[in-house]
Amino acid sequence: MRLTRYTDLALRAVMRLAVMDGQELLTTKRIADGMNVPYTHMTKAIAHLQHLGVIEARRGRNGGLALTPAGRETRVGELVRNLEGDGEVVPCEGEEPCPLAGACRLRRALREAQEAFYASLDHLTIEDLVASPTGPVLLSLGSRG
Ligand code: SF4
Repeated sequence: MRLTRYTDLALRAVMRLAVMDGQELLTTKRIADGMNVPYTHMTKAIAHLQHLGVIEARRGRNGGLALTPAGRETRVGELVRNLEGDGEVVPCEGEEPCPLAGACRLRRALREAQEAFYASLDHLTIEDLVASPTGPVLLSLGSRG
């Protein structure tokens, strides 16, 4: 199973904000620069994460982005499911539909494997992802951007 780059960079943004613990708010540019992601790609991911209620923008002179309390407790599998959408591992009904699509045991097995993959990630929260050794590395990115 392979995640889209979009999902990966959204997860990078979430981890970057999780380690700040809301004490310092970050701009999209600072997150993008620190995580080595193009700004325009990060902008789309941030908007999606706001829509999902995982992060929020706080206004004011020192405004910026922060993880919401619910975002901090979000299960990683749940978030990945939301970011990846309903796509299957194999595009059985794409532009050139497979003739087995309606009665394929492999398709069913792949669906179950996909669900098992997400379920295994549900054992982790976003908070868990920024424990050591990841958290200290993320904090060291704070001076960039
Ligand atoms: S063989 Fe099965 S899993 Fe593969 S594309 Fe066809 S329906 Fe999908």
